[in-house]
Amino acid sequence: MELRTRFAPSPTGYLHVGGARTALFSFLYARKHGGKFILRIEDTDLERSERIFEDQLLDDLKWLGLNWDEGPDIDGAYGPYRQSDRLEIYRQFANKLVEVGKAYEVYAEMEEIEKLRSDILAKSETPHYTREMLEELSTPQKIREYKSSGKKPAIYFSIPRKNWILKDLVKGDVNFTEDSTGDFAIMRSSGLPTYNFAVVVDDALMKITHVIRGDDHLSNTVKQMALYESLNFELPSFAHLSTILGPDRTRLSKRHGSTSVGEYRRRGFLPEALVNYLALLGWSHPEQKEIMSIEEMEKIFDLDRVSKNPAVYDEKKLTWMNGRYIREVSDERLYEMSKPFIVPKVFSEEEYVSNRKWIIQATKSLKTELEELSQLPEKMQIFFAKPEVDHELFTSIEKSGVVQAYKILIDLYESIDDWNVEKITEATKKAVKDSKIKASDFYHPLRKILTGKESGPDLVEFIFLIGRENTITRLRKFLEG
Ligand code: GLU
Repeated sequence: MELRTRFAPSPTGYLHVGGARTALFSFLYARKHGGKFILRIEDTDLERSERIFEDQLLDDLKWLGLNWDEGPDIDGAYGPYRQSDRLEIYRQFANKLVEVGKAYEVYAEMEEIEKLRSDILAKSETPHYTREMLEELSTPQKIREYKSSGKKPAIYFSIPRKNWILKDLVKGDVNFTEDSTGDFAIMRSSGLPTYNFAVVVDDALMKITHVIRGDDHLSNTVKQMALYESLNFELPSFAHLSTILGPDRTRLSKRHGSTSVGEYRRRGFLPEALVNYLALLGWSHPEQKEIMSIEEMEKIFDLDRVSKNPAVYDEKKLTWMNGRYIREVSDERLYEMSKPFIVPKVFSEEEYVSNRKWIIQATKSLKTELEELSQLPEKMQIFFAKPEVDHELFTSIEKSGVVQAYKILIDLYESIDDWNVEKITEATKKAVKDSKIKASDFYHPLRKILTGKESGPDLVEFIFLIGRENTITRLRKFLEG
């Protein structure tokens, strides 16, 4: 049998890192076992679902490289893949359950049902609906009213009262006692299915073999297990992933940094860095390897190495990892990726094209300093800022022969016929040699004079990038004290 996993987001907001991790694990599990990864949009909460969120979800998943085999935009044998296009299917299955007496109609308004809940709450510690209670609300008068106005009743599932054991692939055996849940709605009077019902019908009809999702759904799983049984559907395997906590061990939230994939995109994170980091949120490589590509993960990922303990999200580590990935990126790709960050802040659209070579060199020379591409405009200022003359520095080096060395350097730079990194390196080395001073005495102040900073990009590359005129002007100004 083909292994099939799915990611089933509700388009009620942007894709956050928790969702992205669930999608990634489902994707990797399918790939590892030569199965299929399905994307299903769960948009039956019509008020909160928006198309713009759906589009963004698809876009973010693609950006991460989590390509699906079947989904709302690629049809497959088990579509449609958007729940709002499957309403008739849910209705049919709900009716079937009513026909066999496993579900029943409730002719009552939401407020009445809620009132019932608070009444039971007052009386019992385990406030669950029972069929008797709910059917009592469906008075003959109510039924007549509904029928004459064409209004539909809600449909409730009569849950078999028994203990349930979930054999979870991550959590192990999870016991649900008989009183852990009561009857619950499967269809609303609006004609829309509830989450627990639609998800079961869809996972079964879409032949999902492994349901991988966050453990916040654990209490839903018992309801779903009961539905599988009553609908005579084969139960899939479940794997509930642990919660993601912030460094302070509270549930991950905005307070801990960016939490949506979109924010990381806008900050200039590389998808492969984010994917790599997310994979380590609850899973580990058999040899504890930390840096790895998605292709590598596809070969070795498995649920047996997924931890049941909460994962701790550390944005600092993610940022560090992103920096590492930036250093590996090809010059050409870095140039392309830098565009939204430097246009129009640093260069206009035209300048971005006409200065292509320069930008490639400049971003390359800044690679080691970048942790996210949004830092580029600020980091690039080093090439444009005209550092103030540091008088203290001048006094401290005046007598040490360094001043003489820089004069030699100016002469050598002036005589370079073709201004390139090689020639500049040659000339600079010669200036050190001819002036007979220690290399460190020569380079350290030179960096400070030219860049205004103690550290930064490779000095010769920097000199090349700001150009001969700028270099000599800065040096002369300095030598004038
Ligand atoms: N639409 C649900 C959610 O986004 C799906 C949960 C599930 O995977 O079953 O939480």
